[in-house]
Amino acid sequence: MDFSLSEEEQSVRDWVRTFVRKEIQPLEQEVLRRERANQPGLTHDVLVELQDKAKASGFWGVQTPEEYGGMGLGAVMSALLEAELGRSFVQFRFGGYADNILYHANDEQKQRYLLPTLSGERRSCFAITEPGAGSDARAIRTSARQDGTDWIINGEKTFITGGNEADFTMVFAVTDKEKGANGGVTCFLVDRDQGWRSEYIDTMGEWGPAALVFEDVRVPKENILGEVGRGFELAMKWIGRGRYMLPARALGACERLVEMAVEHANTRVTFGESIANRQAIQWMIADSAVEIEALRWLVLHAAWVVDQGGDSRHVQSIAKLYGGQKANEIVDRVLQIHGGMGYTRELPVERWYRELRLLRIYEGTDEIQRRTIARNILKGHASISGTLG
Ligand SMILES: Cc1cc2nc3c(=O)[nH]c(=O)nc-3n(C[C@H](O)[C@H](O)[C@H](O)COP(=O)(O)OP(=O)(O)OC[C@H]3O[C@@H](n4cnc5c(N)ncnc54)[C@H](O)[C@@H]3O)c2cc1C
Repeated sequence: MDFSLSEEEQSVRDWVRTFVRKEIQPLEQEVLRRERANQPGLTHDVLVELQDKAKASGFWGVQTPEEYGGMGLGAVMSALLEAELGRSFVQFRFGGYADNILYHANDEQKQRYLLPTLSGERRSCFAITEPGAGSDARAIRTSARQDGTDWIINGEKTFITGGNEADFTMVFAVTDKEKGANGGVTCFLVDRDQGWRSEYIDTMGEWGPAALVFEDVRVPKENILGEVGRGFELAMKWIGRGRYMLPARALGACERLVEMAVEHANTRVTFGESIANRQAIQWMIADSAVEIEALRWLVLHAAWVVDQGGDSRHVQSIAKLYGGQKANEIVDRVLQIHGGMGYTRELPVERWYRELRLLRIYEGTDEIQRRTIARNILKGHASISGTLG
């Protein structure tokens, strides 16, 4: 068993580490200032500028297949990069990304949706959740009714990331009520100017998702992604595309947060002594270090299983559940170590505290991950001895 990184993994990881330190972290104060003024932390122009800088060094389309000009990196490498990006709260992502299900588009749709998304000209959003259907995605009610060769969509989606900014949505609608999620849900690519509207949802995070409203939105059959009735499979494919990436990002955040806690503990003096000498503080740092180490290996192992092409759902659920839980405990400890300063808006700790809370909710809540893990164990689909048997 070899736990070391290959030379290539190390050099790619180190490049991103330097990029984050030199290009992204210096923007943090300005990003915080803008967010505090209810503006997007990174403007689109600054994001594109950063993406272009990264692209000049070959960092574009990290997971995008090479035939589309991307780097086509595997899951382990992607997890390593995501953890480095997580070391800043600035919402940077490399350019050249498109949702995995857009690769199921036909040639004409690829020209209209996939390629402009990769080049950054168009922005997408993924819309399955509804006011009455979140964890239970099979209960969606948004409907699409056939009218000649067109389809007419009615319904409401909620909590859609990027829904305020997107030019088009991948929306999931019931096309056969009898069959429902078992062959009766279809995915439609719908441009904003075809008639849907979005409404901002204020959350405790810095950037709000949207509600999408469809009132008699008419789309031609050419806008169906994949096949009629096969939409639910596409939705599951999108959700399962890389669950390990969420805890990977949280891993980077936890590393940075604990570094901040260590620095503060070493410099803050109370009752004539550094708080770093107090066992109460040391134990918080020790527990966090152990959990970060465990999280690192859960994330990398899940990514490794993805790279092996095996069924990774169980190990991805484990990494997502553990990452969400522990990141929240760690940021809480780091805030505690900073005392009153941790609670202020001068430091980014409270910002991370609010952001990391989302990890326990979206793309499968803690409870849904536990349900998956327990079901796999109880039904014998996964072994409690893990992949070592
Ligand atoms: C900021 C943000 C961004 C999001 N982005 C998107 C997006 O881009 N696209 C999209 O389609 N959706 C998105 N979502 C929706 C997200 O995936 C759902 O909020 C999530 O799946 C939970 O669904 P719900 O909110 O309806 O909660 P519910 O499903 O109503 O759950 C409520 C509570 O009950 C628990 N629960 C539910 N069922 C069970 C069960 N069987 N056993 C035990 N406990 C259970 C849940 O864990 C939770 O604690 C986003 C949400 C947020 C907050």
